[in-house]
Amino acid sequence: MTQTEYKIYIDKIVERIERARILVSEHHIVKVVAVSKYVDTEAVKALYAIGQRAFGENKVQDMKTKMETLEDLPLEWHFIGSLQKNKINQLIDLDPFLMQSLHSLELAQALDKRLEAKGKTMECLLQINSAKEETKSGVMPEAASDIYAQIAESCPRIDLRGVMSIGAHTENNDHIKQSFETTRKIFDGLKGAEICSMGMSGDFELAIACGSTMVRLGSLLFPGR
Ligand SMILES: *Cc1c(COP(=O)(O)O)cnc(C)c1O
Repeated sequence: MTQTEYKIYIDKIVERIERARILVSEHHIVKVVAVSKYVDTEAVKALYAIGQRAFGENKVQDMKTKMETLEDLPLEWHFIGSLQKNKINQLIDLDPFLMQSLHSLELAQALDKRLEAKGKTMECLLQINSAKEETKSGVMPEAASDIYAQIAESCPRIDLRGVMSIGAHTENNDHIKQSFETTRKIFDGLKGAEICSMGMSGDFELAIACGSTMVRLGSLLFPGR
């Protein structure tokens, strides 16, 4: 694909997001995070050239490499992966724009401790395993509100901004919808939460219809990766 063809391709995706957004409300805002975990920095630059600024990575090392290579570009980086305890310091040093995958109180407390030692803060989302899938990380939906409040109370260095969830892994649209509705319902009950991050390449329109305010698109934005 030439850059012109790529722009036309991306414009079509933006139109799909826009249509889904307007159906919710003219005032509903949806932010797009481009998940660049499958691609190299050249692909990130190509999408940046079309206007994309927010990118997401699921491995600390990959994020570090891309951040360093692209340090001259005004990008914002989102961490969306499962964070291992031994990578906490590295992630803090990278100063991500938003850490979307806080998946337990224990991880939050470990992160808070290191943030305190480094005199820093981090904006985070609580990851909810809304479809209760064994292969996914995140807190169980029944416990999510309590854990959110506990983190807000016991982790002063963590600035909780909302929730993140991955839609149910199934072809059944009703089940996927249910998982999004579960997440949105929890989000609506949280005090001060602003970001409801849900929806990926295969289900973002449904996620937006269910009230997503942030979609994380990988494969769709980087065809032929
Ligand atoms: C990979 C990934 C995405 C993007 O997935 P696609 O289906 O390629 O759009 C979104 N969110 C998380 C947490 C991911 O790991």
